[in-house]
Amino acid sequence: MDFDPTEDQKFLQQTARDFAVREILPKAAELDKSARWPTEIVQRLSELGFMGMAVPSDYGGAGLDAVSYVLAIEEVSAACASTGVIMSVNNSLFCDPLLKFGSPEQKQNVLGPAARGEVLGCFGLTEPMSGSDAQTMATVGQLQPDGSWLVTGSKNFITNGPAADYILIFAVTDRSGPKVKHTCFLVPVDAPGFTRSPKDEKLGIHAAHSCTVYLENVRVPASMVVGRVDDGFKVAMASLDGGRIGIAAQALGIARAAYDKAVAYAKERKAFGKPLAELQAIQFMISDMLVDIEAARLLTLHAAVLKDEGVRHTLESAEAKLFASEMATRVAHKALQIFGGYGYINEYDVERHYRDARITEIYEGTSEIQRLVIASMMLKEV
Ligand SMILES: Cc1cc2nc3c(=O)[nH]c(=O)nc-3n(C[C@H](O)[C@H](O)[C@H](O)COP(=O)(O)OP(=O)(O)OC[C@H]3O[C@@H](n4cnc5c(N)ncnc54)[C@H](O)[C@@H]3O)c2cc1C
Repeated sequence: MDFDPTEDQKFLQQTARDFAVREILPKAAELDKSARWPTEIVQRLSELGFMGMAVPSDYGGAGLDAVSYVLAIEEVSAACASTGVIMSVNNSLFCDPLLKFGSPEQKQNVLGPAARGEVLGCFGLTEPMSGSDAQTMATVGQLQPDGSWLVTGSKNFITNGPAADYILIFAVTDRSGPKVKHTCFLVPVDAPGFTRSPKDEKLGIHAAHSCTVYLENVRVPASMVVGRVDDGFKVAMASLDGGRIGIAAQALGIARAAYDKAVAYAKERKAFGKPLAELQAIQFMISDMLVDIEAARLLTLHAAVLKDEGVRHTLESAEAKLFASEMATRVAHKALQIFGGYGYINEYDVERHYRDARITEIYEGTSEIQRLVIASMMLKEV
């Protein structure tokens, strides 16, 4: 398998890097400290086509491939992991499912504006009593005589929730058989009966706001069902197969930023009469960090290449997400160690990377869930 980027992909990567270094990086520490939603950066992401990277140009998207998406998310996340996940959710968990499962009307009216950055989307699967075991959700959709649905329930930890214009809501629509069935609904946030909590206070990714959303008899017309009625779980799982590639790329960006800073610091800072970089203990840490990052990059690109080939990539996305997220935590941990006390205080960015890395092991399926996905894919062949 060829992982060398094409000329177009290299150009896109350079564009993303220039943008991230010039326009995001100088603000990243302030965004983290103030937990401010980066309105102006999201606007620039839209102008660059980064909010709908895989959406065809007919709808106003950038019409790019998954490899380009990975390269761009890594660059953006190396500057600011919050911005990386804002972008990732709109691309992978909102535009992608609408592109794959949406009706022509949904594509015209909602996907197009979301890809152009005119509206922001989010993804509502998790509930207070149902996280990893998402099928046990309590949110329900009840079919009405006129063909519309009344949706009631709540969804928590919704990234982009406080700023979003639309949300994909997954709800139980049939409990009659042995298997509970779910449906995906496209809901505008100004629908009567839809409310939101204040934003969550979190350990990291402070500028990527999340919240709880509440639906009280929200009327959803039949035209806003995404995919087929009772087939919504497939929509959710297919979205996460793509989303996990984005989170793996976010983890890569965080790790690379921590690594680069640790290497620069190790060359500068002296102990016992020589730079830290000349101490073998530090050299070993740097070697391990680099190998970890390179391995995660290959797994992530592997999953992206398969996605571009239209091949099922559930296994490879889970492998990439599992390894890259745990790698980011390991690398950020070592980077902070190399900085010593200066790593622990917030004068340098490594403590931000250390906090930001942690979430990648949790959202879009925890590491334990990735292991379950991998095992179930492998063992079903035994
Ligand atoms: C900042 C943030 C943003 C998020 N954004 C979104 C979003 O945009 N949309 C959305 O729908 N959700 C979102 N989530 C939710 C996220 O996907 C869930 O938190 C995650 O899936 C885990 O669910 P849970 O928190 O309920 O933990 P639980 O499912 O309660 O799990 C608790 C622990 O038990 C482990 N565990 C559970 N089941 C098993 C098992 N079978 N075997 C082994 N271990 C197991 C888990 O791995 C975990 O360690 C977000 C979460 C956070 C914190």
